Amino acid sequence: MTTSASAPAGSGNSTAASGTVTDRLVEANERYASAFADPGMDARPVLHVAVVACMDARLDLHDALGLSLGDCHTIRNAGGVVTDDVIRSLTISQRALGTRSVVLIHHTNCGLESLTEEFRHDLEMEVGQRPAWAVEAFRDVDQDVRQSMQRVRTSPFLLHTDDVRGFVFDVKTGLLREVDPA
Ligand SMILES: [Zn+2]
Repeated sequence: MTTSASAPAGSGNSTAASGTVTDRLVEANERYASAFADPGMDARPVLHVAVVACMDARLDLHDALGLSLGDCHTIRNAGGVVTDDVIRSLTISQRALGTRSVVLIHHTNCGLESLTEEFRHDLEMEVGQRPAWAVEAFRDVDQDVRQSMQRVRTSPFLLHTDDVRGFVFDVKTGLLREVDPA
């Protein structure tokens, strides 16, 4: 696997029909907006919950968890890792926007399982600069969920750390499996 960011596999931007993939998204948005009615909500999530999940394209959080518009905050990154920036979002979510529960969702067959911290080294060799961030690669998804729960629970910035639960989403069955925090 190459770390080259300049030429990702399948980097063709064009779609068969018209324009770039972004053009396609913008067209879809025009259809969405034409049927959209202002739900009159404020920014505080109805269910007072923040979900931290991997960015994986096979994980449709709203469908998988029965969520509707306005229900929750969704915070996503590669791996669903609780980084400083995720703590930043959770802190704002709890202190400014009233959420009280945190749900962490990692999943089977995650891309981070096939990476190592060598990824950073390879990047440094390629671009001449070492990234400040850790790759946060892992081998044991349950252990990774436990570590994420621990990072949330021990954050001094969060108001609510009593309802923090972690899960592994199975991309083959669509089922969540809860991870024992112990
Ligand atoms: Zn993933």
